[in-house]
Amino acid sequence: MAALRVKLMLTAYTLDRRDRIIAVSPEWDQFALDNEGRSACADLVVGGRLMDAITGDSVRMFMTAILMRVRVSGQSEAVSYRCDSPTTKRRFVMVLEPLADGGVRVTHHLEHEELTNLRIRVRTADYGQRALQRCSICCRIREEGVWVDPFEENRNRDLWVIHTLCDDCKQAPLQRYRQRQLRDPPETAQALGA
Ligand SMILES: [Zn+2]
Repeated sequence: MAALRVKLMLTAYTLDRRDRIIAVSPEWDQFALDNEGRSACADLVVGGRLMDAITGDSVRMFMTAILMRVRVSGQSEAVSYRCDSPTTKRRFVMVLEPLADGGVRVTHHLEHEELTNLRIRVRTADYGQRALQRCSICCRIREEGVWVDPFEENRNRDLWVIHTLCDDCKQAPLQRYRQRQLRDPPETAQALGA
């Protein structure tokens, strides 16, 4: 998911009911050219499958579950996440809104940015390479069984990682969804068996 976020931050895209990207926001091309180069521009991204752009099975499953809930419930969901650069902690919110015909609009907003004097370099490990697990939502890494924020360790790091989700981030959207169903049950809630 990390690579996808760089392309999509501050932008929006629309998915059809089969999770194909059918439209991107007007600022996409400029942002893509500034950050990713020509290959990320709208004429090449539109028509692709969202899941092909997401790294890590557990991250794909996480997105699939949220998209399913949004479609079945007819209610929007918001997910807070971190998308750090090597020197900057950044917090975003991703909002998923259901559209007609099973489509979903996904918007990414930057909420908070904090420049540090650290340098945390993160690279995706090759298959079989020794690496740490890194949560694609909160950007924490798992060291000796504990999820830690690399910026909190106060030292420069050069990390090779596998993209996954920590248990907190895996469960948080479903817990929020269930709480909302109890508080404000939509008419279609039975369809999920929730
Ligand atoms: Zn996490």
